[in-house]
Amino acid sequence: MKIVEDKDIVIVGGGICGLATALALHRKGKKSMVLERSETLRATGVGIIMQPNGWRALDHLGVASKLRQTSIAVPSGHFISVDDGKRHDLSLGKGELRCLKRMDLVEALAEPLPANTVHFGCHVMSIKLDPITSYPILKLQDGSIIKAKVVIGCDGVNSIISKFLDVDAPKLFSRCATRGFTWYERGHDFGNKFHIYGKDDVQLGQLPITNNLVYWFLTRTLTSQDSGSSKKDPTFIKETSLEALKGFPEEVMEMINNSEAKSLYLTELRYHRPWEMVRAEFRRGRVAVAGDAMHTMCPFISQGGGTSLEDAVVLARCLSNANDPQNALHLYVKERRMRVFWLSLQTYLIGLTVDSTSKLKKVLGNIILFLIFGGQNSHTDYDCGRL
Ligand SMILES: Cc1cc2nc3c(=O)[nH]c(=O)nc-3n(C[C@H](O)[C@H](O)[C@H](O)COP(=O)(O)OP(=O)(O)OC[C@H]3O[C@@H](n4cnc5c(N)ncnc54)[C@H](O)[C@@H]3O)c2cc1C
Repeated sequence: MKIVEDKDIVIVGGGICGLATALALHRKGKKSMVLERSETLRATGVGIIMQPNGWRALDHLGVASKLRQTSIAVPSGHFISVDDGKRHDLSLGKGELRCLKRMDLVEALAEPLPANTVHFGCHVMSIKLDPITSYPILKLQDGSIIKAKVVIGCDGVNSIISKFLDVDAPKLFSRCATRGFTWYERGHDFGNKFHIYGKDDVQLGQLPITNNLVYWFLTRTLTSQDSGSSKKDPTFIKETSLEALKGFPEEVMEMINNSEAKSLYLTELRYHRPWEMVRAEFRRGRVAVAGDAMHTMCPFISQGGGTSLEDAVVLARCLSNANDPQNALHLYVKERRMRVFWLSLQTYLIGLTVDSTSKLKKVLGNIILFLIFGGQNSHTDYDCGRL
């Protein structure tokens, strides 16, 4: 058994949040160790919509200008009702919206890190506190033990660190999402617009990454067939998507038909209930959580990733400003709690509205959403502040 002692800050999970946290700490001159269970950098899902708050965080992290070169700006869009063909302007909020390739994002976050920061193939199995020092002790799948001064759990939706903190596990939502890329050799005709097509309980979003590459996502009711091994089968994903989109415009069907098999993902949607954001501790001593491990949300407002970047900036700022790490984590949770509560509440209420079969409940739901949140995009105005 290998015992590694005295690691200062250990981050469990090398996804968007874990890498951004390591980078934010690095920018503040603090060393960290990222433990990632995969063998290489990975990204679940192919595209990610980044809104103004996310771009601000990327600016603070010093990687925004590089990422801007990989994708085109999407300033406007339309909601298209498939039944009657009516178009409404989509309200996208003020500021920059672009869709990134997830792999471009994780690579941009990982690249500036010093060598030996990210340790691949390190699956954390458990965490406990040293009974004498109260320092966290991590046990890895290969039997290694790591003693750390601070542990940040960025280990996503099934977080081991959240379980240790007694945060309630995310609930399964009644819908699933399929996502993919379609490459247009001669360029696509969609311009720089975000389109959302809606019919009954099916919604399809489509937006360009470049003039040749389009990201699309589809949400529909989850069925028993969607769990198990079929959700990893590209043929199943394509066929069930085409089935759900019957009656949608021809160019949409063509886009799904021509999508790249390796880009296809089917994901069951999960969410932390908003009141969990108020109730949960999110920190015990020198252990805290960030990203989806703290606030899994259904992707209705496309904020999980952007919010994880905000977490990273705030965490690094708190850890570098406070002398005592426990106080730093306390201040971090205090600063983030209400931000993630409002985002979770908004996605939860949208979920209830989307899920309802009653037209009256949908109208009432939208009125309540408007009364609480005003414009649906006020969440994008947020600035997590400088590092
Ligand atoms: C369908 C869908 C669409 C979405 N679209 C958007 C969008 O457009 N815009 C947006 O901002 N957000 C979006 N999101 C949300 C976004 O994907 C997540 O919020 C974001 O990926 C969270 O990052 P994370 O690093 O916290 O978690 P993850 O990306 O899940 O990373 C967790 C990492 O931890 C590792 N790990 C887990 N357990 C362990 C362990 N025990 N030991 C070691 N490593 C471990 C995993 O391998 C993984 O690399 C979407 C989500 C879904 C489901």
